[in-house]
Amino acid sequence: MLLTGQDNEKAIIRELMKTLGSERSELIPILLAVQDEFGYVSEFSMQFIADQLKMSANEVYGVATFFHFINKKPKGKFIIRLSRDMSSIMKGAKSVARQLRNDLGIRMGETTPDGMFTLEWTSCIGMNYQAPAMMVNNEVFSNLTPPKVHRIIEDCRQELYAHRPTVGNVGETHASTLSYASHEPNAALNRLVQQRMSPADVSGELTVSGLKGRGGAGFPTGVKWNLASKAEGDVKYIICNADEGEPGTFKDRIILGKYADLVFEGMTLAAYAVGATEGIVYLRYEYTHLRPHLETILAARRKANLLGENILGKPGFCFDIRIHMGAGAYVCGEETALIESLEGRRGEPRNRPPYPVEKGFLGRPTVVNNVETLATASCIVARGAKWFTSIGTERSKGFKLFSVSGDCARPGVYELPWGMTVQQLLELVDGQGAKAVQVGGYTGELVPASQFDRVMGYEDLGIGGSIIVYGQGREMLEVAENYLEFFIEESCGQCTGCRIGNTKLLDGVRLLQKGTCSNRYLNDLIGLSHSIKTTSKCGLGQASPNIFIAINEHFKEEIMARPVLAA
Ligand code: SF4
Repeated sequence: MLLTGQDNEKAIIRELMKTLGSERSELIPILLAVQDEFGYVSEFSMQFIADQLKMSANEVYGVATFFHFINKKPKGKFIIRLSRDMSSIMKGAKSVARQLRNDLGIRMGETTPDGMFTLEWTSCIGMNYQAPAMMVNNEVFSNLTPPKVHRIIEDCRQELYAHRPTVGNVGETHASTLSYASHEPNAALNRLVQQRMSPADVSGELTVSGLKGRGGAGFPTGVKWNLASKAEGDVKYIICNADEGEPGTFKDRIILGKYADLVFEGMTLAAYAVGATEGIVYLRYEYTHLRPHLETILAARRKANLLGENILGKPGFCFDIRIHMGAGAYVCGEETALIESLEGRRGEPRNRPPYPVEKGFLGRPTVVNNVETLATASCIVARGAKWFTSIGTERSKGFKLFSVSGDCARPGVYELPWGMTVQQLLELVDGQGAKAVQVGGYTGELVPASQFDRVMGYEDLGIGGSIIVYGQGREMLEVAENYLEFFIEESCGQCTGCRIGNTKLLDGVRLLQKGTCSNRYLNDLIGLSHSIKTTSKCGLGQASPNIFIAINEHFKEEIMARPVLAA
């Protein structure tokens, strides 16, 4: 029997679903697999997938259009995605973009007529210390210059990259010595078994250590594990949030590349503490190149009985981990949005309560911890809480990893005790004389030079891991424009303030850049900023105007130096 193109498409999708499953929670893996097969997900495929999953086509379309990396139309054989985070822009991404446009004869967002290349901007790809950087399909290229991208395009034309494994071309980073490097393999799990620690002993050790979530929210890890252990539910989940999307941060990528065993050990400890049997690593799409490496380590852990049934011979200690790929949405770094997308929905943050520890993935108790939190938890259980509390300050225990980029001579990943000042950090990374430092990523805080004596710690700057250094020559309105473009691109659109307000704020910033903004309008923009903060549901919208408010407060002369018009 002769199969039509659509029959063939159906047969392939059916085959894929045999492996991936036919639950709604498999929707995004199915969409990505269909894309791997056909290069994009056609409307016909969406309809067929909807039928198979007993969903409406509208719902499937709604999910597919939410994520940046699901192609709804055919794209080029080589999809070039150039990072436009601020560190990349500072290091020459615009001249790289110009070279790419000239070489390919297309603009951003277009595909060459021969179907070979698609050219796009993308958000941060976790390579800021080697900016500018881009992805060609799933392969990463960094430290780009116009001549270098010209050669990459020529190589693509000769198809040198067509069948290469996606190992990534990511190079090394400046880094302080990480405590993770001296962790004896599986020392925490061995201690748990040898010393017959109870689940409460494990979460208790973390509570005493004072470890707080390293993703930025800073919730005490031991308390979270304890709450999940007490929550009612036969099935519980541990999710590792590896959706490291905050512009400027890349430490989790380095941890997963070098110390994945520690992260998996941390997930296994969490499982023991809360009584979970299933773990999921939610890996951002931009880190697809890490997946084979992570799968190899998971397989080795299963073989060594560090995962699976009766782990290390302990009856009833059963736990395994699978990897779930994200599909490109910054807001999925927020834990409830992440869970929504795991369930096959648009990654829109949920109202809280209930919190995930009570009602998370599939309505069951779920612990969501960041990569660094889990790796650090392993070190703490292995060495004891006392070791950790001997580092840091009274209110900020232990150490923290920082991803440093921008105007400094030694960008990279640094493990530092809490309690250092911004100035001390700048001396370490050779960024003295900076004009300002963005601590905690785009959603963090802009610290001007007059405040470089501020302390990095929960008593002052309790922050996520991204540090971007701005040198004297940087125009702060350009920085604000870049941040707002990012937030507008990544807003899930649920809240009017976030969806519309940021667009209006960006319009205002552009008027200020041109010097055609009136004083009254400037005041209105400040009012708008505060109303965006109060009417937004999640951290994205709540933090999005911070940059504008900070520039108005600390760099007013840059606004006023341009001819702001009288009202
Ligand atoms: Fe979505 Fe923005 Fe509202 Fe967050 S603040 S839920 S990103 S619209």
